Parts: sequence; structure tokens; C-alpha cells
Amino acid sequence: MQYISTRGGMPPASFSDILLGGLAPDGGLVVPAVYPQIDIETLAAWRQLSYPQLAFEIIRLFATDIPETDLQDIIERTYTAHVFGSAEIAPIKTLTPKLHILELSNGPTLAFKDMAMQLLGNLFEYVLAKRNETINIVGATSGDTGSAAEYAMRGKRGVNVFMLSPFGKMSAFQRAQMYSLQDSNIFNIAIEGMFDDAQDMVKAVNNDATFKAQYKIGAVNSINWGRVIAQVVYYFKGYFAATKSNDEQISFVVPSGNFGNVCAGHIARQMGLPIQRLVVATNENDVLDEFFRTGVYQVRGEAQPTSSPSMDISKASNLERFVFDLVGRDSAKLADLWQQVDQAGGFDLSATAFFGQMGSAYGFTSGRSNHADRLATIRLVKQQFDVVIDPHTADAMKVALEQRDKTVATVVLETALPIKFEETILEALGERPPRPAFADALEKLPQRVDVMKADVETLKQYIVSHIG
Ligand SMILES: *Cc1c(COP(=O)(O)O)cnc(C)c1O
Repeated sequence: MQYISTRGGMPPASFSDILLGGLAPDGGLVVPAVYPQIDIETLAAWRQLSYPQLAFEIIRLFATDIPETDLQDIIERTYTAHVFGSAEIAPIKTLTPKLHILELSNGPTLAFKDMAMQLLGNLFEYVLAKRNETINIVGATSGDTGSAAEYAMRGKRGVNVFMLSPFGKMSAFQRAQMYSLQDSNIFNIAIEGMFDDAQDMVKAVNNDATFKAQYKIGAVNSINWGRVIAQVVYYFKGYFAATKSNDEQISFVVPSGNFGNVCAGHIARQMGLPIQRLVVATNENDVLDEFFRTGVYQVRGEAQPTSSPSMDISKASNLERFVFDLVGRDSAKLADLWQQVDQAGGFDLSATAFFGQMGSAYGFTSGRSNHADRLATIRLVKQQFDVVIDPHTADAMKVALEQRDKTVATVVLETALPIKFEETILEALGERPPRPAFADALEKLPQRVDVMKADVETLKQYIVSHIG
């Protein structure tokens, strides 16, 4: 399997070549030259597989330059009951016939990002060792991404993580999750400022090409291709769990921010998984809902803070991968559209045939929710089904209840556990979600964090003095 850039300016490269990188050198996103096709016999054979077996069958189609015995070992070490709470890894919960929740947040940080990040940690360690290389991951987080990255990379040879977070802005639970890690390759840096200040510092470090090359600075953000393929697996798993035979269709409703999660659903569909609808659910930051409803993609100036904070984005980084397929994989056309994004903040497909194809050929629809909708949905799901969902999953559930076709299995992707967002649950239900014993224990552990002023030079010195 070879990888190319959506913008056409990268010589074909192997999986191991692109795994550690971010954007393609021409500013585009890496995509496989073709999508592997899964025929009906293969689909029937896969129905019987365990999660790690299924993951191996799917990922080997994309990571063709990793010897199969090595890949199998990496996957079996990643998707264990010990790490994900059950042998199912991503169990399905049925609320009512043909309405299900696919649980993706039983990993170490209780959010779906673990599903991909845990694999990435093991893949990074493997590829770095093969190439005798090291990487220093520098990132900024307001919660989920940073902790998922730290739990995936802790103790991994060849990898250091420098994770910036806004001082005093995260919940006690989120702080405890990250700052209690004592691994010598994990550095928590609390910035005296907001999340945006932290993110600007990360950008500044990355824009210094000399520093970046000398100190092998890298990232694990949502455009990383390794993350996308790891996510493809649970769409297949969700399909097998919610249907009885391979002539049935399925629809997925996905709480979306950067379009990373649902991009994997698109790829599963392109591979031949019988998906009827891929429903993109946003919060008030509704760039994606607007795009799928109107054909207009318009980046916002700033994201609005909401009660589903992990979906608070002003642009959807992974959307370029879908639009590349939508325009018939024409990289000149794609590059022209993203030039319009750079110059005018967006583009308009409403007058083109592509607009209709988003739904008719690719199965996409969309919806949005606001804070009141999320509270009402959390209440409704508790009352009707005795299940407590987190505010991100509530974004999707609200849209699912509005749009679902009751003759087709609908699977809502659960992206976090309610315990991560206690305040919103309290507001919705009048009581806090049940608190597992480990949460209290976690908050009592000693914490390890360095406080830093929002200054790029100070950060660079910190990185230099902490890499051995
Ligand atoms: C990251 C995240 C999302 C959004 O996922 P995308 O891949 O960015 O669309 C939704 N919910 C939770 C809890 C998340 O952490």
C-alpha cells in the first residue's frame, strides 16, 4: 500500500514513512493510493473474529510494510481486556431494538481517543526502534487529546512527550489523570494562560524549522493516519455487533469536531462496509453541519466554548480527506479548494454536482445540538433507558433520535464516559454520575507538573534541557 498527498505533491510513500509525520510536505493530508475492497465472503469470515483479530485483518491492508508477525504482536499487545476493560474492547449497548451505543471510552483515559492512540504508542515505538530514531512530541491540550497521548506514549522507548495545558483550567479529574503520571518520558507543563496561548507556543516551536529538525519535534494530532486506520476497525466491529447478517445495512451517528472519527467511517464505507448513513453531529461549533446541509465550508474565527468541549473547533482538519474523494480524487481541484480556505476562509460547493453526491453517493447527513438539547437528551436517555451518557455522546444521540430510520440499525458512537464531565451531568440530572473508586484514588496521587509562563523561548530551553 502506497500513500499519496491529497494535494498531489508527494512521491508515493510507505506506511512506516508517513506514520511519524504530520501534514504531507505539500501541506495536504496523506491518504492511501486506493482503498482496499472487502467482498461479501471476507465480511462473512470477519463476523466471527475477536477485536484484535479483526484489527489485524484490517490494519494489515494499510500497513503492508510491517511484517505480519510483528504487526499481529503489536495489535495483540494493544487491544487487551486489561487496557480496555473487557475482551470485547468496544462493546455494544442496545437501548431499544435498532438503536445502539458503541462504547469507545473504556480505555485508560475514558474517551474514544484511546482506541487509536494506544495503537499509535506501540506503532511509534516499533517504527522508531527499527529506524534507530527518536521523537519529541510537543502538544497542547485542554483535556482529552493530551491525556490520551500521554497514556499511549508513557514508558515507550524513543519517545518523549511535552504536553502543555492551561494552568488551572482543567477539571480536578483531568488534572489528576495527566499530572499523576510519573514516567520519566512524560513532561506536563502548565502554562500561565489559556489553551490558545499553549497552542500558539506549540505552533511557534513547529514553525522554527531548524529547532524542529535538530530536536526531532513531532506531533500526534488528529490528522495522523495511524489514528484514522485504528478507528476504521470499530466501524466494522459495530456493524457485526448490531446486525445479524451481511445483507443488512447500518447507520452510524458520530459526535464530530475535527472530522477524525467519522472520516474513519467514510473509509470503512469506501472499503465496502454496508453503511447506509454516516450522520455527522456537531455542537454549536457547527462548521461541519453547515457544510453537509448547504455545501458551504466556512472556517470560523474562533471556537465557542461549550459543554461538549472536545468538539469545540473552528475548522475540521480531517475534512480534506473526504473532500478529496468527493471531487473524484482530483488533487488540482482539491488544492484549489484549500487555497480558497487559506485566502477566503472557505469554499462553496452548493452549485456543483458534488453537493448532492455528499448524501446520495457517500451517505452523509448531519445535525447539531446546543447546550439545552444536550441536557434534555441526557435526561431523556436516563429516563427511558436508564443509561447515563456524556455530553458529547448526547450531541450524537440528539441527532440520532431526530433522524433515525427505525428499519435500519442505528449506532451512536459513545466518545467519553460521563464521569469526565460531572458538572454537566449534575446540571442535567440533578446528581453526579456514579464515581468509580479509582477516580478518588487517582485524585489523591502525587502530581508532577511544571508551571511555565507563556513564552516560547522558555519552552524551547525546557525541551532542550529535558531530552537526554
Ligand atoms: C475528540 C473528541 C470528539 C471529536 O472527535 P473528532 O475526531 O475530532 O471528530 C468527540 N468527543 C470526544 C469526547 C472527543 O474527545
